[in-house]
Amino acid sequence: MKSKKILIVEDNDLNRKLFENLIGQLHAYESARNGLEALEKSIYSRFDLILMDIQMPQMDGFTTLKKLKSQAHQSCPIVAVTAYVEESERGNFLEQGFDDLITKPIRPREFLETIQMHLTKDPPSKPLKSNTGVEQVLDKSVIEQLFKYNSKSTLKKVFEDFLQECNQTLQLLQNQESNPEEILAGLHMLKGNSGTLGARRIFSVCQNGEAELRSNPAFQTNELSISLENEIKEFNQFLNQQTIFES
Ligand code: MN
Repeated sequence: MKSKKILIVEDNDLNRKLFENLIGQLHAYESARNGLEALEKSIYSRFDLILMDIQMPQMDGFTTLKKLKSQAHQSCPIVAVTAYVEESERGNFLEQGFDDLITKPIRPREFLETIQMHLTKDPPSKPLKSNTGVEQVLDKSVIEQLFKYNSKSTLKKVFEDFLQECNQTLQLLQNQESNPEEILAGLHMLKGNSGTLGARRIFSVCQNGEAELRSNPAFQTNELSISLENEIKEFNQFLNQQTIFES
Protein backbone atom coordinates (compact mmCIF):
# COMPACT_ATOMS: atom_id res chain seq x y z
CA MET A 1 0.00 0.00 0.00
CA LYS A 2 1.59 3.24 -1.13
CA SER A 3 0.43 5.74 1.42
CA LYS A 4 2.90 8.53 0.72
CA LYS A 5 2.84 10.75 -2.31
CA ILE A 6 5.85 12.50 -3.77
CA LEU A 7 6.05 15.25 -6.34
CA ILE A 8 9.07 14.94 -8.66
CA VAL A 9 10.01 18.24 -10.29
CA GLU A 10 12.69 17.70 -12.91
CA ASP A 11 13.08 18.87 -16.51
CA ASN A 12 15.66 16.29 -17.57
CA ASP A 13 13.84 13.28 -19.06
CA LEU A 14 16.47 10.74 -18.12
CA ASN A 15 16.69 11.91 -14.53
CA ARG A 16 12.94 12.10 -14.19
CA LYS A 17 12.55 8.55 -15.47
CA LEU A 18 15.14 7.26 -13.02
CA PHE A 19 13.59 9.10 -10.10
CA GLU A 20 10.16 7.77 -11.05
CA ASN A 21 11.48 4.22 -11.22
CA LEU A 22 13.17 4.49 -7.87
CA ILE A 23 10.36 6.22 -6.05
CA GLY A 24 7.59 4.30 -7.77
CA GLN A 25 8.64 1.10 -6.04
CA LEU A 26 7.90 2.55 -2.64
CA HIS A 27 5.56 5.47 -3.04
CA ALA A 28 2.94 7.10 -5.21
CA TYR A 29 4.22 10.04 -7.20
CA GLU A 30 3.40 12.74 -9.69
CA SER A 31 5.88 14.45 -11.96
CA ALA A 32 6.33 17.99 -13.20
CA ARG A 33 8.77 19.21 -15.85
CA ASN A 34 9.24 22.68 -14.44
CA GLY A 35 8.20 24.97 -11.60
CA LEU A 36 5.00 26.12 -13.23
CA GLU A 37 3.77 22.56 -13.62
CA ALA A 38 4.75 21.87 -10.04
CA LEU A 39 2.71 24.82 -8.76
CA GLU A 40 -0.27 23.68 -10.76
CA LYS A 41 -0.04 20.11 -9.41
CA SER A 42 0.32 21.39 -5.89
CA ILE A 43 -3.03 23.14 -6.16
CA TYR A 44 -4.86 19.89 -6.80
CA SER A 45 -2.86 17.40 -4.78
CA ARG A 46 -1.34 17.19 -1.39
CA PHE A 47 2.17 15.81 -1.24
CA ASP A 48 4.23 14.31 1.56
CA LEU A 49 7.50 15.37 -0.06
CA ILE A 50 8.62 17.43 -3.03
CA LEU A 51 11.88 16.78 -4.91
CA MET A 52 12.95 19.96 -6.66
CA ASP A 53 15.45 20.35 -9.46
CA ILE A 54 17.05 23.81 -9.53
CA GLN A 55 17.77 24.66 -13.14
CA MET A 56 14.59 24.28 -15.16
CA PRO A 57 12.90 26.16 -18.01
CA GLN A 58 9.82 28.35 -17.29
CA MET A 59 10.44 28.55 -13.56
CA ASP A 60 13.54 27.51 -11.62
CA GLY A 61 13.67 25.63 -8.34
CA PHE A 62 14.33 28.59 -6.05
CA THR A 63 11.42 30.61 -7.41
CA THR A 64 9.15 27.58 -7.22
CA LEU A 65 10.22 26.93 -3.64
CA LYS A 66 9.28 30.46 -2.58
CA LYS A 67 5.89 30.21 -4.25
CA LEU A 68 5.19 26.81 -2.69
CA LYS A 69 6.16 28.07 0.75
CA SER A 70 3.70 30.93 0.42
CA GLN A 71 0.89 28.43 -0.14
CA ALA A 72 -0.39 27.57 3.29
CA HIS A 73 -1.61 24.08 2.40
CA GLN A 74 1.79 22.83 1.17
CA SER A 75 3.88 22.39 4.26
CA CYS A 76 5.69 19.19 3.27
CA PRO A 77 9.47 18.94 3.13
CA ILE A 78 11.00 20.25 -0.10
CA VAL A 79 14.32 18.71 -1.04
CA ALA A 80 16.57 20.28 -3.68
CA VAL A 81 18.10 17.85 -6.18
CA THR A 82 20.83 19.58 -8.07
CA ALA A 83 24.16 19.25 -9.80
CA TYR A 84 25.03 22.91 -9.46
CA VAL A 85 26.45 22.80 -6.02
CA GLU A 86 29.44 22.18 -3.87
CA GLU A 87 28.93 20.69 -0.45
CA SER A 88 29.98 24.06 0.99
CA GLU A 89 26.92 25.70 -0.57
CA ARG A 90 24.57 23.43 1.31
CA GLY A 91 23.91 26.11 3.94
CA ASN A 92 22.67 28.46 1.28
CA PHE A 93 20.04 25.97 0.16
CA LEU A 94 18.82 25.44 3.70
CA GLU A 95 18.75 29.21 4.31
CA GLN A 96 16.62 29.69 1.21
CA GLY A 97 14.10 27.29 2.71
CA PHE A 98 14.94 23.87 1.33
CA ASP A 99 14.74 21.09 3.88
CA ASP A 100 17.63 19.17 2.42
CA LEU A 101 19.85 18.82 -0.59
CA ILE A 102 20.63 15.81 -2.76
CA THR A 103 23.45 16.23 -5.26
CA LYS A 104 23.39 14.80 -8.75
CA PRO A 105 24.52 12.36 -9.92
CA ILE A 106 22.39 10.69 -7.32
CA ARG A 107 23.31 7.45 -5.58
CA PRO A 108 20.08 5.44 -5.60
CA ARG A 109 20.42 4.03 -2.10
CA GLU A 110 21.29 7.38 -0.52
CA PHE A 111 18.60 9.02 -2.59
CA LEU A 112 15.93 6.68 -1.22
CA GLU A 113 17.31 6.87 2.30
CA THR A 114 17.13 10.65 2.27
CA ILE A 115 13.55 10.49 1.04
CA GLN A 116 12.60 7.93 3.69
CA MET A 117 14.24 10.02 6.36
CA HIS A 118 12.13 13.04 5.49
CA LEU A 119 8.97 11.01 5.18
CA THR A 120 9.47 9.62 8.65
CA LYS A 121 10.37 13.08 9.93
CA ASP A 122 13.71 12.20 11.44
CA PRO A 123 16.04 15.18 11.57
CA PRO A 124 18.52 15.43 8.70
CA SER A 125 21.91 14.40 9.93
CA LYS A 126 23.64 12.48 7.21
CA PRO A 127 26.50 14.37 5.55
CA LEU A 128 26.57 14.31 1.78
CA LYS A 129 29.30 12.31 0.17
CA SER A 130 31.25 13.82 -2.67
CA ASN A 131 31.69 11.75 -5.78
CA THR A 132 35.33 11.02 -6.17
CA GLY A 133 36.88 7.99 -7.75
CA VAL A 134 39.15 6.61 -10.39
CA GLU A 135 38.37 7.08 -14.02
CA GLN A 136 36.57 3.93 -15.02
CA VAL A 137 34.64 3.55 -18.24
CA LEU A 138 31.66 2.60 -16.16
CA ASP A 139 31.48 3.03 -12.42
CA LYS A 140 30.55 -0.42 -11.10
CA SER A 141 29.13 0.87 -7.85
CA VAL A 142 26.74 3.18 -9.68
CA ILE A 143 25.66 0.34 -11.95
CA GLU A 144 25.12 -2.03 -9.05
CA GLN A 145 22.94 0.54 -7.37
CA LEU A 146 20.98 1.18 -10.55
CA PHE A 147 20.37 -2.53 -10.97
CA LYS A 148 19.08 -2.85 -7.45
CA TYR A 149 16.25 -0.49 -8.16
CA ASN A 150 15.56 -0.79 -11.88
CA SER A 151 14.70 -3.70 -14.12
CA LYS A 152 17.19 -4.83 -16.77
CA SER A 153 14.90 -3.83 -19.59
CA THR A 154 14.41 -0.35 -18.13
CA LEU A 155 18.15 0.15 -17.78
CA LYS A 156 18.84 -1.22 -21.23
CA LYS A 157 16.51 1.41 -22.66
CA VAL A 158 18.08 4.12 -20.49
CA PHE A 159 21.54 3.24 -21.80
CA GLU A 160 20.30 3.15 -25.38
CA ASP A 161 18.83 6.61 -24.97
CA PHE A 162 22.04 7.74 -23.37
CA LEU A 163 24.16 6.52 -26.30
CA GLN A 164 21.87 8.31 -28.68
CA GLU A 165 22.33 11.47 -26.68
CA CYS A 166 26.10 10.97 -26.76
CA ASN A 167 26.02 10.83 -30.53
CA GLN A 168 23.79 13.89 -30.81
CA THR A 169 26.21 15.87 -28.68
CA LEU A 170 29.11 14.59 -30.76
CA GLN A 171 27.35 15.75 -33.92
CA LEU A 172 26.88 19.18 -32.37
CA LEU A 173 30.62 19.33 -31.73
CA GLN A 174 31.49 18.17 -35.23
CA ASN A 175 29.10 20.52 -36.97
CA GLN A 176 30.80 23.80 -37.93
CA GLU A 177 27.44 25.54 -37.80
CA SER A 178 26.81 24.84 -34.11
CA ASN A 179 27.05 27.88 -31.88
CA PRO A 180 28.82 27.80 -28.49
CA GLU A 181 25.53 28.04 -26.60
CA GLU A 182 24.16 24.92 -28.26
CA ILE A 183 27.37 23.05 -27.63
CA LEU A 184 27.43 24.15 -24.00
CA ALA A 185 23.86 23.02 -23.47
CA GLY A 186 24.65 19.66 -25.08
CA LEU A 187 27.79 19.13 -23.02
CA HIS A 188 26.04 20.16 -19.86
CA MET A 189 23.18 17.73 -20.37
CA LEU A 190 25.53 14.91 -21.27
CA LYS A 191 27.72 15.68 -18.29
CA GLY A 192 24.76 15.29 -15.95
CA ASN A 193 23.48 12.11 -17.55
CA SER A 194 26.87 10.43 -17.83
CA GLY A 195 27.36 11.20 -14.16
CA THR A 196 24.03 9.64 -13.27
CA LEU A 197 24.83 6.48 -15.21
CA GLY A 198 28.41 6.19 -13.99
CA ALA A 199 29.97 6.75 -17.42
CA ARG A 200 32.92 8.38 -15.76
CA ARG A 201 35.20 9.06 -18.70
CA ILE A 202 32.48 10.59 -20.82
CA PHE A 203 31.61 12.64 -17.77
CA SER A 204 35.19 13.94 -17.50
CA VAL A 205 35.38 14.87 -21.16
CA CYS A 206 32.11 16.79 -20.90
CA GLN A 207 33.11 18.44 -17.66
CA ASN A 208 36.43 19.64 -19.03
CA GLY A 209 34.91 20.68 -22.34
CA GLU A 210 32.19 22.65 -20.62
CA ALA A 211 34.71 24.46 -18.42
CA GLU A 212 36.96 25.31 -21.37
CA LEU A 213 34.10 26.58 -23.45
CA ARG A 214 32.69 28.66 -20.63
CA SER A 215 35.99 30.40 -20.04
CA ASN A 216 36.65 30.85 -23.74
CA PRO A 217 33.72 30.87 -26.20
CA ALA A 218 36.18 30.90 -29.11
CA PHE A 219 37.61 27.59 -27.90
CA GLN A 220 38.30 25.19 -30.77
CA THR A 221 36.25 22.06 -30.24
CA ASN A 222 38.15 19.76 -32.63
CA GLU A 223 40.15 18.01 -29.97
CA LEU A 224 37.20 17.86 -27.66
CA SER A 225 35.12 16.20 -30.35
CA ILE A 226 37.85 13.60 -30.96
CA SER A 227 38.09 12.83 -27.23
CA LEU A 228 34.36 12.50 -26.94
CA GLU A 229 34.17 10.29 -30.01
CA ASN A 230 36.83 7.98 -28.54
CA GLU A 231 35.14 7.79 -25.17
CA ILE A 232 31.79 7.02 -26.76
CA LYS A 233 33.44 4.22 -28.74
CA GLU A 234 35.09 2.84 -25.61
CA PHE A 235 31.84 3.02 -23.73
CA ASN A 236 29.93 1.30 -26.49
CA GLN A 237 32.54 -1.46 -26.69
CA PHE A 238 32.49 -1.83 -22.96
CA LEU A 239 28.71 -2.24 -22.93
CA ASN A 240 28.86 -4.76 -25.76
CA GLN A 241 31.40 -6.88 -23.87
CA GLN A 242 29.28 -6.88 -20.77
CA THR A 243 26.48 -9.26 -20.21
CA ILE A 244 24.82 -6.92 -17.75
CA PHE A 245 21.60 -6.53 -19.70
CA GLU A 246 21.14 -10.21 -20.43
CA SER A 247 18.76 -12.06 -18.20
MN1 MN B 1 17.31 20.77 -14.69
